[in-house]
Amino acid sequence: MKTKIIFSEKCLGYGAWHIEGPQRVKAAHEILKEKGYDFLEPTSASEEDLLKVHETEYIWNLKKGLVEDSDTPAYDNIYEYARLSAGGAILAAKVNGFSIMRPPGHHAGRNGAALGVYTRGFCYLNNIAIAVKALNKPTLILDIDGHHGNGTQEIFQGDEKVVYVSLHRYPYYPGTGSYSEGNCLNFPLPADCGEQRYLETLDEALGMVDVGRFEVVAVSAGFDTHLGDLASFGLTENSYRKIGERIAALKKPAFFLLEGGYVGEKNGNDIDQLLRGCEGAP
Ligand SMILES: [Zn+2]
Repeated sequence: MKTKIIFSEKCLGYGAWHIEGPQRVKAAHEILKEKGYDFLEPTSASEEDLLKVHETEYIWNLKKGLVEDSDTPAYDNIYEYARLSAGGAILAAKVNGFSIMRPPGHHAGRNGAALGVYTRGFCYLNNIAIAVKALNKPTLILDIDGHHGNGTQEIFQGDEKVVYVSLHRYPYYPGTGSYSEGNCLNFPLPADCGEQRYLETLDEALGMVDVGRFEVVAVSAGFDTHLGDLASFGLTENSYRKIGERIAALKKPAFFLLEGGYVGEKNGNDIDQLLRGCEGAP
């Protein structure tokens, strides 16, 4: 059975001038529709869900639009957009689906920018953290976005229920994740390292995890690792299928949230390939 895609047109309503703009999801949605995927419409996450992850003061500031930084604008109604994206994450966790909602989330920490980084990197609420907390099961978080998920690490550092594994470019934004710390396993890689080195590193990373401990795999699925994208490792569509096969080999229920990936058409095809790999599709 095909993985359900979580999507609402509402997420296209802001930021048309920004690199984290609606085109990256609109084109992906069209491609996935053509390929025959079924879609589910999310509802907004509750404030209670948000407060399991973020500080009250931060949520208050987000509501009032007091959260602008040099790459993360305080758009009108950004709190509502972010809350709907977080709701998409919770729904994806419930149905083992793939949320293509925006804004993304993995750089957002408890109180905004995480681990001393100076911006929130296009993120407002940490969607994957909100979904993992809502699900409340032992979870392996696999972050395949090309940037380190400093927000996710900050939130789950020392959490006995969660292991966080991230492969990301280093040195690069946000500048964190150069070494592993406790339950946060970080695998920094050089720009355009290529598919072979990437997959070898992914195998090494997953080999270090006691997968039997976990009931679910939560994937921060960024596609800015695609050749030529913002955090390129030189990966191609076919690389994402191979990543999907490795996720399938963990033999756990999984769900997926879109993080980065800045070319909409590529995102659509890469998502399809990742899910085909996961589903063992021909
Ligand atoms: Zn990224």
